[in-house]
Amino acid sequence: MAEAVDHSIRTGEHLAVQAGTGTGKSLAYLVPSLRHAVAEEATVVISTATIALQRQLVDRDLPRLSKALKKELGREPDFAILKGRRNYLCMHRLHSGAPDEPDNGALFDPFAVSRLGREVKRLHEWSSETETGDRDELVPGVTEQAWKQVSVTARECLGVAKCPIGVDCFAERARAEAGKADVVVTNHAMLAIDALEGFQVLPEHDVVVIDEAHDLVDRVTSVATEELSAAAIAAAARRCGRLIDQDVADRMAEASDGLAMLLEDLPVGRMDELPRALAGTLAAIRDASHACISSLGPERKEDVEGTTNRKLALSLLEEVHDGAVRILDAFDEERDVVWVSGDFADRGRAPTLRVAPLGVGGLLREKLFGKRTTVLTSATLTLGGTFDTLARQWGLPASSQNRKAEGTATEKEPPSDAAPIRWTGLDVGSPFQHGSSGILYVARHLPPPGRDGLPPSYVDEIEGLVNAAGGRTLGLFSSMRAAKSAAEALRDKLDYTVFCQGDDATGQLVKKFSEDPRSCLFGTLSLWQGVDVPGPSLQLVIMDRIPFPRPDDPLASARQKAVSERGGNGFLTVAATHAALLLAQGAGRLLRSMNDKGVVAILDPRLATARYGGFLRASLPPYWTTYDPEVVRAALKRLDAAVDA
Ligand code: SF4
Repeated sequence: MAEAVDHSIRTGEHLAVQAGTGTGKSLAYLVPSLRHAVAEEATVVISTATIALQRQLVDRDLPRLSKALKKELGREPDFAILKGRRNYLCMHRLHSGAPDEPDNGALFDPFAVSRLGREVKRLHEWSSETETGDRDELVPGVTEQAWKQVSVTARECLGVAKCPIGVDCFAERARAEAGKADVVVTNHAMLAIDALEGFQVLPEHDVVVIDEAHDLVDRVTSVATEELSAAAIAAAARRCGRLIDQDVADRMAEASDGLAMLLEDLPVGRMDELPRALAGTLAAIRDASHACISSLGPERKEDVEGTTNRKLALSLLEEVHDGAVRILDAFDEERDVVWVSGDFADRGRAPTLRVAPLGVGGLLREKLFGKRTTVLTSATLTLGGTFDTLARQWGLPASSQNRKAEGTATEKEPPSDAAPIRWTGLDVGSPFQHGSSGILYVARHLPPPGRDGLPPSYVDEIEGLVNAAGGRTLGLFSSMRAAKSAAEALRDKLDYTVFCQGDDATGQLVKKFSEDPRSCLFGTLSLWQGVDVPGPSLQLVIMDRIPFPRPDDPLASARQKAVSERGGNGFLTVAATHAALLLAQGAGRLLRSMNDKGVVAILDPRLATARYGGFLRASLPPYWTTYDPEVVRAALKRLDAAVDA
C-alpha cells in the first residue's frame, strides 16, 4: 500500500485502496505523504470522517512517525489539525458579540434556559484554560445551542483585520499553524468546503489522502445541503430590523409568515414540481432579502459593535437569499432535489424546505480529482466485489485498473486515452482470516421483515442467539424503534444487561458494553460504523434487516428515479449500494483484533433469497456462511465456553 501511495503521488494517478482493519493503513499513507511533503516543501492534506481517527493520527501515528523518520528525511516533519471555524471558540463573540436568540421552544422552557445559562458560564470558564479553543477538547461537551453562543460561522466572522481579537483568535492560530505544516489533518466537510465551495480554508496542497472514504459522498452531500425555514427568515428580519429601514425589514417578516402558512399545508417529502404558490413566496423571500442586503449597504468604517451586528445580519440574509434562489432554480436545472422535512405533529419540528444535490460525482471530478492527486482509502471500498460502485459516485470513470495486492491483475480494460482522469483500485486485503475466524449466519427460515416493527419470530431468534453467545452481542437495527422494542422485549427474557442507544451518551454505552462481556448493546446507525470493541465482549453482531434507505427518503428516492430514467437499475445503483456499504461496515464490527472470533447474524432472509442477495453478500467480508440456526448456536456456545476456559 505504501508503494502504491508513493506511485500515486509521483505519477498523479489517483488511487482507491481498500485495506482491512489492522492493516496499518494510516502508516502506509503517512510515510509516503511525509516524504513528499518534506522533499517538495509542499503540504499534504489528510481528511477523515470521524474525530476518533483524527485523534489517532494527531495524537499517536504522526508524533511517532515524525520522530522515527527524522533521520531519513533530514528534519522532523510538522503536522497540524484544522477544523471548521464553528469548531473553535470565538473570543470576540464570547466577550462582546451579540448572542443568538433562543428559538421559541427554548424561550418558554425554564429548564432549557437555565441549562443554557449554566453551559455558557462553563464555556466562559473554559475559555481561560483552553489552549486551542477546540470544541472537541471540551469534556463533557455542551449542547449545540450553547456552543452557538460562543462560536461563529465563516460568514459571521469579522475577519482578522477587523476583529479586535485579531491574530490571537483560536481559529486564526489553527489556520496559521496549518499553513506552516507538512501534513494537515482535517475532515471531509472542510475538504468539501475548500474544494467545492470556492472558500480557501485549507493551505495550498497538491496531494490529498481521504481516509474513511466510504463516507465521502454523504459528508460532501451534507455540506452541499441547504435549508430554508420560516424561523430562519424571521431571525434574519429581526437581526437586520435594528440596522435598516423598518419597512424593508418588514417585507422579510411578511415573507416569513407567508412561508410558514404554506409549509403547514405542504406534505412532507420530495417535491417533483414547484407549486405555484410556493414559487411566488420564494420569489418574495428572494426579493425581500435582496432589498435588506442592499439597505445594509457596503461595508463602512464602523465601531466594532456596528461591524459585528452588520456581519451577523448579513450572514443570515445571505443564507436566506441563496437558499431561496437555489430552490427556485432547482426545478429548471434538475441538479438539485427539494423536499419538505419536519414532523411537527410528532416531534415538534417545524416544516423546513431542504435542497441537496442529486449527485456529487460531477463536483468531485471537476473540483477534487481534476485539481490534485487523490488517494482514497477505507476498509470498505469494494461493493459487490468491485471498486466501480463507489467510483461512479465519486465521479470517476468505471473500471480503471482494479488489482489485488499480490499482483493478480483483473482482466479489466485498461483506461482509455480518452478518459481524462486515471485511477487505480487496489485491494491490499486484511490480516484477518475471515473464513476461519467468523461465521456469517443468514436466518433464511424467518419471514421477510414487515413494516410493523420487529416480528415476534425475530425477537425469539435474537433471544436464542444471545443466550448461546452468553451476552457479548452488538445489535444493529435499521431503526431506533426496532432497537428500542427489541431491548424492551429482551430485557424481560434475558439474564444479561441490555444497553440501548439513547439510554445514555453513546460513548458511555459503548464503554459499559466493552467493560461487561456478558452485556448486549442495541442501537442504530451510528453504532453500525462507530463501535470498535476487540476481545470477548463482542462475539456476536446481529442485524435485523438489510439497511435499505427508507422508501420515502427524498434524496435516495430521487437518485434512484434519476438512474432509472437514464435506463439504469436505480434500485441496485442506489438502494442496494447504500445497504451494501452499511452491511459491510456493520459486519466489520466483529473482528477488531487478530484473536477475535465470532458470528455475524443477519435476520433478514432476503439476503439469501432475493436476486440482489448475491451482490450484498459479495460486499461482506468472506466469512464462512451458514443458514442453519443449530450450527450457529452451537458455535456461539463453544466460543462462550472458550472464553471462560
Ligand atoms: S477573527 Fe473571527 S473567529 Fe476569530 S475571534 Fe474574531 S470574529 Fe471570532
